[in-house]
Formats: sequence, C-alpha cells, structure tokens
Amino acid sequence: NKNKRQMWVQFYTDEMKAASHREIELENELRLAIMNGEFELYFQPIIDLATDTIVKAEALIRWNHPEKGVINPDVFIPIAEKSELIITLGKWVISRACQVARQLCDLKHCIKISMNLSPSQVYDEDLYNYLCSCVTKYEVDPQKLEIEVTEGVLVESYTNTDLLLNKIRDYGLTVSVDDFGTGYSSLSYLKKLPIDYLKIDRSFVQDVATDDNDKAIVKAVIGMAHNLNLKVIAEGVETNEQLNFLVDNHCNSVQGYLFSKPVKLESFIDLLNDYTTT
Ligand code: C2E
Ligand code: CA
Ligand code: CA
Ligand code: CA
Repeated sequence: NKNKRQMWVQFYTDEMKAASHREIELENELRLAIMNGEFELYFQPIIDLATDTIVKAEALIRWNHPEKGVINPDVFIPIAEKSELIITLGKWVISRACQVARQLCDLKHCIKISMNLSPSQVYDEDLYNYLCSCVTKYEVDPQKLEIEVTEGVLVESYTNTDLLLNKIRDYGLTVSVDDFGTGYSSLSYLKKLPIDYLKIDRSFVQDVATDDNDKAIVKAVIGMAHNLNLKVIAEGVETNEQLNFLVDNHCNSVQGYLFSKPVKLESFIDLLNDYTTT
C-alpha cells in the first residue's frame, strides 16, 4: 500500500512537472509571438434590436501560430494572465482596436469597438495613459470605444476599479459588464460603479427558448438592468427562437453565431457593407 502511494505521488508530481513545463514553454512561445506580431483581432457584430443595425463590434484576439494555425484565446489568455505578458498583449489589443476604429470610421462605418480587459490590466497604472495615447494617435472619438470587464474585477478591487472606470468613462468610453450572472452573487456594485451595459452570459441564453428557469432569469436581468438605467446585450444568440424571446422581452442588443462568428477585419467590413445596403 505504501509503495502504491509512493508510485502515485511520483506519478502525480511527474504530471505536475510536465504541466508546468508545458506552461513555461507556452509562455516563452507567447513572448516570441508578441515580438513577431503573430496576433490578430477578429470582430463579431453586435446588433441593436431597435434599429436592426450593427452598432458595435467586439474585438476578439486570435494567435496565428506559424505551425499550429489559429489558436483561440481560451488557450493562451490564461497563460498570459499568469505573467506580465497580458499587459503587453493587452496594450497591443488597445492600440489595434483604436487603429481599426479609425479605419472603419474613414470607411463611413463609424461603429463602436469593444475590447476585453483582463483583471491585471485594471491594476496597471499605465493603462489609462496608454489608452489616451492610442486615442490621440489614431484620432478616434473615445465614444466609439468600449471596455468589457468581468464581475470579478468589479467586486474584488472596488477602489482601483472605481477610480479607473470613472476616469475611462469621463474620457468618453462606455463600460460593459461581461459574462454577467456567472461571477458573484453580490449585485451592490451595479449601483455604485460607472457602467453602461450588462452582457448576459451565453449560458443563460443557450436554453432561453425552452427552459423556464432561464426565461425567468433573463427576464429578471433585463428588468433589473433597465430599472438601473443599464442596457442589456445578450451573448451567444444562435437561433431565431432565442432571438424572438429576447426581442419580446425588450433586450437592447444581441451578439452571436446567428448573425456572425467573429471574423477577420476584411470580412467584417464586407459584413458592414452588406448589412447597410440590404
Ligand atoms: P468573451 O469575452 O465572453 O467573448 C465571447 C466568446 O463567445 C468569444 O469566444 C466568441 O467567439 C464566443 N461566441 C460568440 N457568439 C457565440 C455563439 O453564438 N455561440 C458560441 N458557442 N460562442 C459564441 P473567443 O473569441 O474564443 O474568446 C473567448 C474568451 O477569451 C473571451 O470570452 C474573452 O474572455 C477572452 N478574450 C478574447 N479576446 C481577448 C482580448 O483581447 N483580451 C482579453 N483579456 N481576453 C480576451
Ligand atoms: Ca467579452
Ligand atoms: Ca462574454
Ligand atoms: Ca467569457
């Protein structure tokens, strides 16, 4: 029995070593990839239901790996978040998003670009100045930019976040609470923090056409948000049944595969052209 346990411990530590080895490897690869410019922003449209137009695009990062092809953020963002790499990568996202906002506006598609912020970016003292420098460099209207933060950030670092979000919002950007409903049970931050939108997480939208509990939750979230003067974006809309429920219940806007997956900038511009001419 003792032997067995020893074997198991040995196996377990080997596994852990291998896992942390893979992580270190990936971290080094990420470092190189940032230097080599292997990242790309994809864009997914957000449709305003009142006007049936694309009012916004969420910028979603992809890694064009020279051997492995396109790698999704779920694989590398968590690794980047464990080191200072997320700061560098996050800055690249901000700069590129501003550049694209400028470009779209020049093409007479002056829509808003929303960017995802990692928690450690919120603690970064440089963030605000960096954002302002990009806005100035690309001459974008700050009102054409939005940041998305998760509930965790809002609850955990209340003072930091409050300060930063207030500055960002005073500057003209809007603020979304991402993955709403999946993080914390405390809702008190909603009335204290400077926010504009709640993004209802896909897990509630998925079965909203069929599941009575999800119907109740989504209705309640929309009602509460509107009473607090917040607007609601539903994430992960894939079917017309889900869309109909959201329209009937006065959701403000929708995002999901029903309209488009996140696509490269070139395809996104095609989409904008098609959407406004039809
Ligand atoms: P998120 O911010 O919640 O982004 C929405 C995710 O849902 C995206 O996955 C999007 O492709 C996916 N999605 C959208 N509509 C649908 C749908 O109808 N059905 C399904 N099944 N999925 C849908 P993606 O692009 O793989 O991004 C995953 C996560 O990675 C994001 O979740 C976000 O947390 C993070 N992420 C992406 N880009 C960035 C970035 O630039 N910076 C940071 N810090 N995180 C990012
Ligand atoms: Ca997001
Ligand atoms: Ca989300
Ligand atoms: Ca998410």
